[in-house]
Amino acid sequence: ARFVNVQKSYDGVELVVKGFNLDIQQGEFVTLLGPSGSGKTTCLMMMAGFETPTHGEILLKNEPISGLPPHKRGIGMVFQNYALFPHMTVAENLAFPLEVRHLSKEEIKRKVAHALAMVRLEEFGDRRPAQLSGGQQQRVALARALVFEPDLVLMDEPLGALDKNLREEMQYEIKRIHASLGVTMIYVTHDQTEALTMSDRIAVFNDGVVQQLASPETLYEEPENAFVAYFIGENN
Ligand code: ATP
Repeated sequence: ARFVNVQKSYDGVELVVKGFNLDIQQGEFVTLLGPSGSGKTTCLMMMAGFETPTHGEILLKNEPISGLPPHKRGIGMVFQNYALFPHMTVAENLAFPLEVRHLSKEEIKRKVAHALAMVRLEEFGDRRPAQLSGGQQQRVALARALVFEPDLVLMDEPLGALDKNLREEMQYEIKRIHASLGVTMIYVTHDQTEALTMSDRIAVFNDGVVQQLASPETLYEEPENAFVAYFIGENN
C-alpha cells in the first residue's frame, strides 16, 4: 500500500494532513503514532476508503483505491468503537463478512472455526457479544477483520478501552497473529510504549505532518527533531 503526497482538509481550507507519503511493504507492521488531533485517524480513514484525499493518491496493489469497490480492497478493520452486531452470536458475526462475499456454507463454517481458533475463542462461537468480556469482544472483532483473509488490516486504537494488563496481553496476541499470517497491518495509537513494542516501523505524526518514519530503534536513538525526541521519550 502506498500514500503519495496525500493531503486532506475537511473544511476545504485547513489541511489536517499536509502531504503524507508512505510506502508499506507486504507483511509489515506500521504504526501511526502521535498526539490527539495530529491526523492519524484521518489517514487510516482515507486508506479504508471512508474519506477521500483532497490531494494526492492512495494505491493498493499499485491501483488507486478509489477505483476498487470496498469488498475488492481486501481490507479488514478493527476500531475501538467498531461494534460487533449485538443480536448475532460470535460465529454469526464472523460469518457475516463471508456471506457478503458469497462463500459456500461449508467454507464459511471452516473459516469461522479457523478464525475463532486463531484468537483462542473456540468455545465461544454460540455466545452473544454481551456475554463476553471486553477483551474477548476485541478478540472477536480481530477475528472478524481476519476471517476473509484480507491483504491489509487497519486498526485504530483497538485496545484503547482495555485495562493495562489486558492491553499488554492483546498486544502480544496481535503480534503473534501478525507473525503467523504475515498480513500487513497499519496500527494507530497515541501510546509510545505500544508503538515501540509492536512495530516494524513507526510514522510519528504531529500537526498533520509525519515528523519521522523509522524503526523503533532509530526513533529512540536518532530522533530527527525535538518533537520526536520528546514524544518518544515521554512515558505514559
Ligand atoms: P485522535 O487520536 O484524537 O483520534 P488523530 O491523530 O487520529 O487524533 P484525527 O482524528 O485524524 O487525529 O483528526 C485530525 C484533525 O482533523 C483534528 O483537528 C480533527 O478535529 C479534524 N477532523 C477529524 N475528523 C473530522 C471530520 N469528520 N470533520 C471535520 N474535522 C475533522
